[in-house]
Amino acid sequence: MRGFTYAGPGVPAQLTELPTPEPGPGELRIRVGANTVCGTDLRILRGEKSKGVRLGAVLGHEVAGYVDAVGEGVEGFAEGDLVAMPPSVCCGVCGPCRRGTEHLCEDVHLVGYDIDGGLADYMLIPREARARRQLVKAAPHLEPAQLSLAEPISCCLNGLDNYRVEVGDVVVIVGAGPIGLIHLQLARIAGARQVIVSDPSETRRATAEALGADLTVDPTASDLLGTVRGLTDGEGADVAVLCIGVPALVNDCLNLVRKRGRVSIFAGLAGEGWSNIAANLIHYRELTVVGASNSGRESFVRAVALIESGAIDTKSLITHTFGLSQATEAIEFVASGEGIKVAVIPD
Ligand SMILES: [Zn+2]
Ligand SMILES: [Zn+2]
Repeated sequence: MRGFTYAGPGVPAQLTELPTPEPGPGELRIRVGANTVCGTDLRILRGEKSKGVRLGAVLGHEVAGYVDAVGEGVEGFAEGDLVAMPPSVCCGVCGPCRRGTEHLCEDVHLVGYDIDGGLADYMLIPREARARRQLVKAAPHLEPAQLSLAEPISCCLNGLDNYRVEVGDVVVIVGAGPIGLIHLQLARIAGARQVIVSDPSETRRATAEALGADLTVDPTASDLLGTVRGLTDGEGADVAVLCIGVPALVNDCLNLVRKRGRVSIFAGLAGEGWSNIAANLIHYRELTVVGASNSGRESFVRAVALIESGAIDTKSLITHTFGLSQATEAIEFVASGEGIKVAVIPD
């Protein structure tokens, strides 16, 4: 089989010929249906993120596929089932795992980092993941690429659990890439009165409008802060969600919310992630600032249900599809910032 393998920070990944994995006891093999490319994949390839990434690992953690071979002792799955799983395989015994936050596991193994991922013809579902019931069966009517989005959607649900949207809230989403467009849809579902989306790209703003944004703002041409204050009697929004990893925008988000408002630093910043902020905005205005990273089983199952029901529009998010033989081109296309979500499909 072919796999798009990591060759080190800043080194171009390559499609390489690998042995097709054979499922041992407790394992399953899936035939990859689709793997959507994530901003994190780009950061890995650019050398901005190397922690936990194994040399030679097959990249890709947003993967869905069809059960192709079932190992000894695996029950509940049959050949042809459409499945996906949250990519973090946790230890189950560390502090975060014991507290029910397995996605923050101290000894996590991640699909597409050190476990071979979905930019391949086939992928092996590890025994531990299967034993912890991470593999989720989805409705067969879905296209695999739609189901691949369960991963980013579950991460956004985890973020939403932390920043909360209450009925009637005004929410500002900073950045209308795939993640921003998912937060936008979740804010709508959660009962936001008004969702304002800021992004310099005209096409991304148009997509945000099509997906339910009440107002979109080009921050390079108009005053986002003034607009938000104008809509909220000068108070500011209830919630701001940062969905692009630009350090200066952290402080902008602190300014965008009202007193006692909530800010989510959802996007990761490059390197150690330093950003200059006016901490007194948090102090005097009693802000709540939260983060979010990865997702666990619980949010993943919710994400699959939201996709199956159509409550989240996944088809509009997948704007481009590439064959696996063009994985390099697919990654380069994502780097260009064009389109929303790019799916890679074995050809
Ligand atoms: Zn991702
Ligand atoms: Zn753990």
